[in-house]
Amino acid sequence: MAKRGMLIVLSGPSGVGKGTVRKALFNQPNVDFKYSISMTTRKPREGEVNGKDYFFVSKEQFENHIKNGEVLEYAKYVDNYYGTPLKYVNETLDAGHDVFLEIEVNGAMQVRANCPEAIFVFLTPPDLVVLKNRLIGRGTDDMEVINKRIKKAVLEIKMMRNYDYAVLNDKVENAVNRIQTIISSERLKVNRVMPDYLSSLGDEA
Ligand code: 5GP
Repeated sequence: MAKRGMLIVLSGPSGVGKGTVRKALFNQPNVDFKYSISMTTRKPREGEVNGKDYFFVSKEQFENHIKNGEVLEYAKYVDNYYGTPLKYVNETLDAGHDVFLEIEVNGAMQVRANCPEAIFVFLTPPDLVVLKNRLIGRGTDDMEVINKRIKKAVLEIKMMRNYDYAVLNDKVENAVNRIQTIISSERLKVNRVMPDYLSSLGDEA
């Protein structure tokens, strides 16, 4: 039987650039993760392809999948459902492939509860001073709105404590390098390496 693959979860606050970082990571020549395509009830955006970017389904179909226990996690985000099909993840991990999820924070916490062995990576925006100055500089919001946004950002950033790794997204290529470093060291963890050593000894182990 193949050694079960690793489940890697990339998550973080809204607007931090998860999708951009994930796409850049998958464009790296030596990356061999299987991307779990999510289901969503939101309408496809221009250029999005069903079965490639998402599985676009109706609200009724989505709720049936939930009822039948066919999603690993799901969340409602801006009035639409988003969720991870369970069967694909299980079958792909069982076949020995590493599976990569890019999901928002509430869904990530459900995966944490159900799959504690997964690797949780939190993508963080550059610091709050930069964010605040950017909002002030834009000149479109008054100070009350700016302070509200900063408060929300602080709350979202505090979610970081539920993750294994924090990756700063100051530049996409830096974030990609940091994620690759994490994965490389995860592969060297004793509990991942040791079973191979022992099984190579056969009956003597
Ligand atoms: P968008 O509509 O911009 O494609 O995605 C909105 C948000 O939903 C993003 O933060 C994205 O990471 C998240 N998302 C995409 N797929 C899933 C999923 O399967 N589960 C959860 N919980 N969030 C998802």
